[in-house]
Amino acid sequence: MAENLLNIGDIEKFSIVDFPSKMAVVVFMQGCPWRCPFCYNQSLQSTQIKGNATWDNLLHLLEHRKGMIDAVVFSGGEPLMQDELPQAMDAVLKMGFEVGLHTGGYRPEALKKVLNKVDWVGFDIKAPLTVEHYKKATGNAGDVAKVKESLQMLIESGVHFECRTTCDPRILDIDDIYNIADELAFLGVKEYYLQKYRPIPTDKTTQDSDCEKFFADEKLQAYLKQKFAVYEARK
Ligand code: SF4
Repeated sequence: MAENLLNIGDIEKFSIVDFPSKMAVVVFMQGCPWRCPFCYNQSLQSTQIKGNATWDNLLHLLEHRKGMIDAVVFSGGEPLMQDELPQAMDAVLKMGFEVGLHTGGYRPEALKKVLNKVDWVGFDIKAPLTVEHYKKATGNAGDVAKVKESLQMLIESGVHFECRTTCDPRILDIDDIYNIADELAFLGVKEYYLQKYRPIPTDKTTQDSDCEKFFADEKLQAYLKQKFAVYEARK
């Protein structure tokens, strides 16, 4: 298979937090169509940059990790940007690993091509599912219709997945989380996580108390617990 099958920004050789209950290698795919203000991986956004790792590097690592890790997680960036993703997943599955995917769901036609390959999906919900909110949260023209299409497809697929939201107080408030929770529960989402925002280096104004307010709000936390079969605060 071609050395440059994927444009890989970097590889995390061992992770216990990127695929539930599995030890995983994480592949950070280069390229993302969005510009979330809270992005921790800005170096992965550009599609013009050649990443620091190659497909061959990944295959070599996986050969040596057989028996030690359970899964390979394709993360980003946005993995669905790269058309070779299904081929890459097939190769990983053939080696005996489970496959995970982290996505914001911006490209449903690409998600459709990998749904029969993935064992688990972490689906980012950036904001309430409206054009205005998604514009603000992703710095994009508002791909929310595509996000909804992807989420619906994922729900109907029966693939194990979670939804999660990073609570950046610059773009979300408490009411937004209620709105997200109501819509997700209505659609049939069972697992939801709130993730604490930790200010990125360029954010000099956000205080920890601003980030903490979502988790300190007992009413909100109780609401989320009763709304979803599985809910957890990730701080
Ligand atoms: S979708 Fe992820 S990688 Fe892309 S800009 Fe947003 S946080 Fe960064």
